[in-house]
Amino acid sequence: MIASFFGSIHDFFHSSTWTATEVALAAFVLVFWAATVYWVWKDARRRIAEQWKIWPAVLLAIVVPFFGPLVYMLFRPPEYLDDVRERELEMRAIERRLVGGDLECGVCGASVEADFLVCPVCTSRLRQACASCGRPLEPAWQVCPYCVTPIAEERPVPLRTPAAPPPAASPRPPQQRRSGTSG
Ligand SMILES: [Zn+2]
Ligand SMILES: [Zn+2]
Repeated sequence: MIASFFGSIHDFFHSSTWTATEVALAAFVLVFWAATVYWVWKDARRRIAEQWKIWPAVLLAIVVPFFGPLVYMLFRPPEYLDDVRERELEMRAIERRLVGGDLECGVCGASVEADFLVCPVCTSRLRQACASCGRPLEPAWQVCPYCVTPIAEERPVPLRTPAAPPPAASPRPPQQRRSGTSG
């Protein structure tokens, strides 16, 4: 049964109708193969941010016709880059809403990020940077949490509610500020 099947195929390929059919079939396969390669390239560009990661997928589609794209479909990133970007923007907006709205510069009212050191509009000092690693520090911190460097005494923004007592038992009176270069 199988032998006769392959025999008929063999006869078919050696018949005179072969050349015309071969050309049509080969052209169809070639066009379909090129289409799958193009599809992989187009799809990978929408899903993969790094350019150098796109070309292995395209190469796979070229070298392994028809099965390469199937393998690519199994391992490709599940989301389009546009969708990922949109979702990240939404999540950032939700985070801001949870935190309590956008932060604003206390001097000029420009919207600032939480890790800004100075206001980009009016150049007011917003936060102190760690002397060692340069990261923005919260006013209440005694030590940099990123590099364990103790924070110097000078604080740029004395954020203090007038009703509440000072957070730590500081020996200095709160109103009197020592001016001078001793330190
Ligand atoms: Zn400002
Ligand atoms: Zn640090």
